[in-house]
Amino acid sequence: MVGKNYINGKWITSAKGAQYDHYNPADLTEVTGSWPKSTVEDVQVAIQAAQNAFIHWRQLTVYQRSEYLRKALSLMRERLDTIAEVLTTENGKTLAESKAEIVSAIKEMDFQINEGLRMGGRIMPSERDGILAFGIRAPLGVVAVISPWNFPFNVPARKITPALMTGNTCILKPANLTPGVGAEFVKLFDQAGLPAGVLNFLTGSGAVIGQALVENPAIKAITFTGSTDVGMGIHKAAAIHMTRTQLEMGGKNPLVVLADADLEEAANAAVLAAYACAGQWCTSTSRTIVEENIYDEFLTLVLERVKKISVGRGTDPQATMGPVCGKSQLAGILDSIQKGKAQGAKLIIGGRQIKEGELARGCFIEPTIFTEVTPDMFIAQEEIFGPVLSVIKVRDFDQAVQIANQVKFGLSSSIFTKDLGKALTFVEKTDVGLTHVNMPTAFKEPQLSFGGVKQSGCGLPEAGDSGVEFFTEHKVAYIKYR
Ligand code: NAP
Ligand code: MG
Repeated sequence: MVGKNYINGKWITSAKGAQYDHYNPADLTEVTGSWPKSTVEDVQVAIQAAQNAFIHWRQLTVYQRSEYLRKALSLMRERLDTIAEVLTTENGKTLAESKAEIVSAIKEMDFQINEGLRMGGRIMPSERDGILAFGIRAPLGVVAVISPWNFPFNVPARKITPALMTGNTCILKPANLTPGVGAEFVKLFDQAGLPAGVLNFLTGSGAVIGQALVENPAIKAITFTGSTDVGMGIHKAAAIHMTRTQLEMGGKNPLVVLADADLEEAANAAVLAAYACAGQWCTSTSRTIVEENIYDEFLTLVLERVKKISVGRGTDPQATMGPVCGKSQLAGILDSIQKGKAQGAKLIIGGRQIKEGELARGCFIEPTIFTEVTPDMFIAQEEIFGPVLSVIKVRDFDQAVQIANQVKFGLSSSIFTKDLGKALTFVEKTDVGLTHVNMPTAFKEPQLSFGGVKQSGCGLPEAGDSGVEFFTEHKVAYIKYR
């Protein structure tokens, strides 16, 4: 399959014609397609197309814009199964996980279309007689959307819907590892009849075309989801032109289990959020922080559940965990596991790449647990982004909160307890963008904003009402009518 860019309403190859091969993470001998290695020149053509399209697109009423998006949304519902197959082939997650991602994208898109219709300004009473004083919102212009491979369908949906609803035009740069999923997203808009140039799509290297987008002064906002290192680089480059940024980055999300918790529920939540999508969620549970008097009991429950995880190809209906997404992801996770061992943490299950049978051809890792983890260790501090859970024993609630916060990240957290006072104190003291009580760290809904603090997030968060807010600027007007 020869994949293409989508620029100015046409599916085209890179002007220079170079392509790169994409490999199935479940079997690296299988080439899934070849995609344009776009160049800086292709970026310039896409920016020009988006600038031209902006002139007309911003003039449409928000209701007219919503019609195109609703059509794309209805195609998304119809094509759920087909898109899920592409997602599983490129990313590796199980078909059930792929479908869940698309369902989530549908909900996010639906909410943001409606939120766009509610976008308004505020009328304030004037100090003087006969003056009408009010605020309105205006679009920014051309927006760069830089997307990761772990939620390659949901993330563009969450970003592009509010950007287009508010009258901006977009350039989507998907992660190198998931170009086909990005193309499936764009196809929906193409088939919905979106005017040429309103949404453009370029595949290729982040360091080349991502960087070219970020450095171009014609780009008026950058919405990025990915690693903290790349996010920081984008923030710096954007500052030169005072380009607005929305950066959703890494996490090291803690799940605290107190002695009075429903331990079965806590174990379910820990295992779900640590191993779903092979641990490659930005909101994955990567640390469980457990009170010492229930530590052994909790660990037994977690182990029972982890032993039931069935690792296999995402297309295998028996599999509950797929491969990790590609060779370099695999190498990075195995390296983190080595560091955990070297620093004295105890590996109680997993820890190996699966090298037996047909899975040996893919990027499969056993679900892994480390105990005797201390807060200073690499595996307690750094995002591993794989199926690895670090368990930390604590004396009491106060120590749990302190350790939960003792990382550079601040995306998501959770506490399991029946003590209302401790639950609310945790909500108050946990340094994250989203927290949970008696729920998995990965839970989210579209009506509330989504973003991190500390090195997990910067700029207005996505989704909820800040989704639309990020893509507009404020303007105020004073009108003398008497
Ligand atoms: P990544 O390496 O930072 O890549 C993210 C995107 O940025 C990709 O499209 C990448 O392109 C592009 N990119 C790379 N270098 C660039 C540059 N110099 N300028 C502009 N763009 C550039 O992250 P990833 O490995 O794809 O994703 C995993 C990370 O995403 C994890 O850290 C995870 O926590 C985070 N994440 C966060 C959230 C959240 O909402 N907070 C959600 C999901 C994931 P290439 O693929 O071509 O390199
Ligand atoms: Mg990367």
